[in-house]
Amino acid sequence: MNQNTTTDKKELVKLRSANDLRLTMDGYFARLKEAAETRSRKVAWCTSVGPAELLYSMGFEVYFPENHGAMLGAGKNADKYIPTAVAHGYSPDICSYLTSDIGAFLQNETPLQKMGFTSVPRPDILVYNTNQCREVEDWFCFYGRHFHVPVVGIHTPLCIGELNPEIIKGVSDQYHRIIPEIEKVSGRKFDMDAFRETVGLSHDGCVLWKQVLQKAKHLPSPINFFDAAIHMGPIVVMRGTTHAVEYYKILLAELEGRIATNVSAVPVERFRIYWEGMPLWYRLSSMAKLFAKLDTCIVASTYCNSWVFDDLDPADPFESSALAYSKLFIVRSDSVKENVLEKLMKEFTVQGIIYHESKTCARNSNNRFGLQNRLFKTTGIPFLEINGDLNDPRCYSEEQSIIAIETFIEQLAGQTK
Ligand code: SF4
Repeated sequence: MNQNTTTDKKELVKLRSANDLRLTMDGYFARLKEAAETRSRKVAWCTSVGPAELLYSMGFEVYFPENHGAMLGAGKNADKYIPTAVAHGYSPDICSYLTSDIGAFLQNETPLQKMGFTSVPRPDILVYNTNQCREVEDWFCFYGRHFHVPVVGIHTPLCIGELNPEIIKGVSDQYHRIIPEIEKVSGRKFDMDAFRETVGLSHDGCVLWKQVLQKAKHLPSPINFFDAAIHMGPIVVMRGTTHAVEYYKILLAELEGRIATNVSAVPVERFRIYWEGMPLWYRLSSMAKLFAKLDTCIVASTYCNSWVFDDLDPADPFESSALAYSKLFIVRSDSVKENVLEKLMKEFTVQGIIYHESKTCARNSNNRFGLQNRLFKTTGIPFLEINGDLNDPRCYSEEQSIIAIETFIEQLAGQTK
C-alpha cells in the first residue's frame, strides 16, 4: 500500500499546473475570439485527430467541435440540447458530441458565451479525417451547408491491421489533395518549411504528453485519468504550437516533483485500474471522488493515450502525418488493439480494466465484439463493463454503476489479501 505523504484524508489534491492550464486554454480561446471578431485571421474547424498541423502551418486559428462537445458534456448541458438535434433528424443513437453540439447551435447557445463569444467562431473551412468515425463528416457537412463554406476531408481505412505502405501513401496523397482548397480559403500558398516546423512542434508536444502519461507507471501514480482528461486540452486543440509544448513542460515538472516527494494522485493507492472508452464528461468529478474513496487510481486509459502522435517527423511531414494518424488506436483492428492493451496493462501494473460502453460512440466502445473476453483469457486481468455515454446522462445509471464499481474493487481487494 502506498500512502500519500502529504495527507491522510481521502481528498484529491489538485495539480498546481491547473492554473497554467487555465491560462493556456484562455490564451487559445482569446486568439480564436479575436480572429472570429476581427476576421484578421481565417478560422478552420478541425476534427480532434484531423490534420491540425496543416491548418496551423497555413495561418488558421483552429477550432475543434469535439472540444466544444466535451465542454457541453462537462457543463452537464448536453441533454438540454440533444432533443433539438433529434427534432432536426439526427438520431439520439448517434454521437452525442454531434447531437449536443448541433442542438446547442440551433438553440444559439454555447459555453463560449461565458468567455465573451457571441456564438461559436464562424468557420472559413471545415477539415476532417474519418480515422475516428464517419460521424465527423456528417457533423462538419451540417455546418458546411449552414455557413456555405467548403468542407474537405481525409478518408482513412478503418480496422487497420497491418499498416502497409499503400495505406500510408493513400492517406498522404489525400493530405496533398486537400491543400489547394485550403490555400484558396487561406489566401496563402502552402509553405513546406512552415509545415515542417508545425509537425516538429506537434511531435514535441506529443512526446511531452506521452511522458506526462507515462509518469503514471510510478507506484503510486502522480496523475490519474480524471486529471489527464482535463489536462489533455492543449494536446487536442494546440497540437503543432509552442503553447502545448510549453504547457506540458510545466505539467511534467510538477509530476516529477510529485514522484520525488511521493505524492500520489489519489490519497491512498491500493488498486490500479485501466479505463477503456470515453470519459463520462458529466460525472468526471464525482467519479474522481468515488475512485479516490475506493483507494483506486485509474492509471492509464485508451482515451488519453490517443493523442500521442510521436511518429510525426518534420523530415518527412506528409508520410509521417499519414503514419501517425493511421496508427492511432481507434482506427486499428481488434487484434492490434488487444496487443496494445496487453502491453499497457503490463507497463502500468494494472490490476483491473473498466470498459465504458458508450451508448452513442461505437468506435470508442471496444467491448462490443468480445475483445474484453479475449484479453481476459490472455492476461487474466479482471474487468468490469459499465453502460453509459460520453455526453448524454440519460444513458447512465449512476446508482447501478457505483454499486458495480464498488463490488469490482471489493473483488480486487479479495484477490490481493
Ligand atoms: S469518435 Fe465517437 S465521440 Fe468521437 S466524434 Fe466519433 S462518434 Fe463522436
